[in-house]
This record gives sequence, structure tokens and C-alpha cells, in this order.
Amino acid sequence: MKTCQVSIVVPCFNEDEVIEAFHRALISALEPTRRTFEICYVDDGSSDRTRLRIGSLATADRRVRYTSFSRNFGKEAAMLAGLRMSRGDAVVLMDADLQHPPELVPRMLELRQRGYDQVVARRDRDGEGTLRTFLTAACYRAMGRCMDVEVVDGEGDFRLLSRTAVDAVLALPESNRFSKGIFSWIGFETVSFTYSNIQRAAGRSKWGGRRLFNYGIDGLISFNSRPLRLAIHGGLALALAALGYALWTIAGVVLHGVAVPGYTTLLTAIVALGGIQLATLGVIGEYVGRIYSEVKRRPHYVVRETNESPQVLPFDIPAEVRPRPSAPGDRRASTGRTGSTALGASRFRTLRQFVDFGLIGVINTVVYLAVYATLNTWIPYLASHVIGYTVSIVGSFLLNSYITCRTKPTWQAFVRYPLSSVVNLVLTGVLLYLGVSRLGMDKNIAAVAAGILATPFSFLLARWAIDSGTDLARQSAGPAETRAGHTAP
Ligand code: UDP
Ligand code: MG
Repeated sequence: MKTCQVSIVVPCFNEDEVIEAFHRALISALEPTRRTFEICYVDDGSSDRTRLRIGSLATADRRVRYTSFSRNFGKEAAMLAGLRMSRGDAVVLMDADLQHPPELVPRMLELRQRGYDQVVARRDRDGEGTLRTFLTAACYRAMGRCMDVEVVDGEGDFRLLSRTAVDAVLALPESNRFSKGIFSWIGFETVSFTYSNIQRAAGRSKWGGRRLFNYGIDGLISFNSRPLRLAIHGGLALALAALGYALWTIAGVVLHGVAVPGYTTLLTAIVALGGIQLATLGVIGEYVGRIYSEVKRRPHYVVRETNESPQVLPFDIPAEVRPRPSAPGDRRASTGRTGSTALGASRFRTLRQFVDFGLIGVINTVVYLAVYATLNTWIPYLASHVIGYTVSIVGSFLLNSYITCRTKPTWQAFVRYPLSSVVNLVLTGVLLYLGVSRLGMDKNIAAVAAGILATPFSFLLARWAIDSGTDLARQSAGPAETRAGHTAP
């Protein structure tokens, strides 16, 4: 069998409008190089006609191979699948939207011939929005300081890897993959050149602000433990500050006698320290969450359809989810999700929602407590409770819509949300009253206890208020989960 010199790996997610133009441009760039090549398309669970289009390309041209996922698993998973499929001595990773110009591939191949194992095409940021450019540059600077591996602004996934480099990338087994870090971590002789940024030929970028933000967090967490160290440093600095404050107070008592301590100052300090502790717990939780997802050793993706022979399928796909090679559009292959997978996904979704809701609740509790504690020195505590509650409810509605339910806030939901909160308000009010007047609890402690006891009810009510009537949101929960979630592209 003739060996393949170059593999082009192309992750595609909803690229229906551009994929054929991309394919034509790629073929025109590759044919003059007189090298044997293959193109490995990976359809990352597109909801448009991308899968059918790459299926037809594969039928028309034996050099085209493809794999299609059962749902959207993110670009990282798609690139991994493509690298596993590839058989070439050199592999070029590129996007399907023509932002990675195919005419640069011959130049990359020339540089490979000079012995480089990684050839990186680095884009400048021409034509990009000022805010996006600024945020991205700031993000890279921050990452550069915090990460143990080097990531360079503009150096993305558009790169050529030698077979040795590909094998090194594939040898890294982690579930949470952050390619930019991985490419840097494997090392090898690397060369880069710059090209002018190009806007997408058609379709839309799948990278919203939140997804980029999560990707940044992935980068930070995947390649170092500095956030944990930062938490230790922050904790020590605060402990020292507290010691200084204690000495200052003791000196004050010695010099001026005992004064009634500032109640508000004390509470603000408690709330601020509580916030810092919770943020630190969040950092630790992020690492623990990653350990959890790593030890589960789930496959990175599930294949729905492929024109590959079964032997070259990824080794870690359990037998029951391995599809048979099928013709494009074959309906039998479309039952990618088993019942138990769907059930697991729905349980995971509820768990994830509850965790999100809990974290948002913590933020809102801090806001609520700050308002409550400030006001209850002047007005009755139940009145402070109502005002604090009202202030936090608007923020809570927005955060729970966008983060917990991953849906756009609607006016209907906004009207329903306070309705559900009235029940919650009464419940927390009653608990607070019982705590203070019957059990003689401290007003602040009683408010916190009432909030905690009411949390499960609040979660169900809030989810009902936001989600109710949006069946669409529920039905699309599978792919949307991943699209909006932490799975890196
Ligand atoms: N992509 C993917 N899965 C995703 C998101 C994106 O395979 O979940 C592919 C997409 O089809 C494209 C490439 O990754 O080929 C880059 O995506 P996009 O153009 O949206 O990113 P941007 O260029 O805006 O950074
Ligand atoms: Mg793009």
C-alpha cells in the first residue's frame, strides 16, 4: 500500500455553508505539491447538513475519510479523533471555515522538510473587534504568567505536526484536553510564521465570550497548580493582615480602653472572608472535578458514523457504542445515544444545574447578607430581609437563566420567577421568624440557616420558573450542554 505523506485533519461543527468551498480550496492547494495525501473530516455532531456533505465528499473521493460524532463533543475531541484517524507522515490541523488558508499548507510542508516537527501558522489580529482583541491579549498575558507551558497569542491549532509529534500528542491520555498547552508541552523543534487574519468565509464562530472564558480556565487548570498556590498565599496574607488588625485593636484597648466594636465592620469582614474562602473552595473544587472526570475514564467522544474500517476506530470506545461503518445518512446509525446514556446525561444535567444553582445561591446570599446586615441596624430585620431579598433576586434570575438553565431569560420567565420566589420568601421568612423568636437564634445566623434549609425548594421552583414551557430547551439539552459547557473545542 502506498504510504500517505500528508494528512489534513479538519474538525467541523455546523460548517454546511462553507465545507465544499473549503474542500475545493484545499484540493487546489494540495494537488500541486505532488504528495500523497488524505483529508480526515470530523463532524462534531453538527445539526445542519455538514455530515451529509462530508459523506458525499468521501463517496466522490477516496482520499477523503470521515468520522461523525453522536453529538457535539467540542473541538478538542474532534481534533483528537482526527489525529487518531490520520495515517500521514505529517499531519496538518486546520479549521473548516477558510480562516486557516489552505494555500499556506505547501509552505508548512516545505518547513517540515527542513526538519521541524511542529510548524505553526500564527495569525495576526487584523479585522478583529477591539474589545475581543484586547480581552484575548489580556487573557494570553495572564495565561503566560500563570501557566507552566508557553502559549503564544495568535498561535492556535493551525499547525503541522510530524508523525513523532502526533504520537507524542496521542500518548497524553487526559480527558480534559487543552491542545494549545499540549502542543507546547510535547516540545520538539518548532518554527512559526505569521499570516494575515482572515474573517470566516461563511457561517458563525462557535466561540462566544463565555466559551472563551471557560477555555481560558481550562488552560489555567490543565497545566499547573498555581491557582491552588495563590489560594495558600492569599490565605496567609489575610491571616497576617488579621494578626496586624488584632494587634492594632489590642493597642487601641490598652491606650483608650474598651470600645464597642463596630458591628458592621465585623460583619463585612466575615462576609468578605467567607467570600474568599468560598472562592478558594471553588478553585479546589475545580481541580477535584477534573480528577473526578479523569478517573471516570470516559471516552472523549462517541462515533455515530464513519467510513473507517472498525480496526482504526479509537481504542477507548466501549464495544456497545462502536458503530458499524455505514453509508452517509444511514438511519440505523443515527441512534448514537443509548437509553442509559441519555438517562445518565439527564442526571448529570440535574446535578450540574444544582451545583450551579448552589454556587449562584452563595453569591446571592453574600449580596443578600451585605444588604441585610447593613440595613438591619437602622430598620426592622424583617424589612431588611425583604429588601435584601429583592436586590438579590434580579441577579439570581439572570445568573440562573444563563448559567443554570443555559437559556436566554424571557419576560414570561421573569414574571414567573418572582412568583416562585414569593413561596421562597414566605418560607425563608417563616423559618427566620421561628429561628429568631422561638429558638432565640442570632438574627444573622437565623437568616443563613433559613436560606440553606430552603435551597432544594428554591432550586426546583427556580428551574420551573425559568424552564417551564421551554420544552425546546429540555430537548436540546444534550448538545447544548456540551456546546455551552467546559468541553474545550
Ligand atoms: N468546531 C468544532 N466543534 C465545536 C466548535 C468548533 O469542531 O464545538 C470547529 C469549527 O467547525 C471550525 C473550528 O472548530 O472548523 C474553529 O471553530 P470557529 O471557527 O467557530 O472558531 P474561531 O475561528 O471563531 O475561533
Ligand atoms: Mg473560525
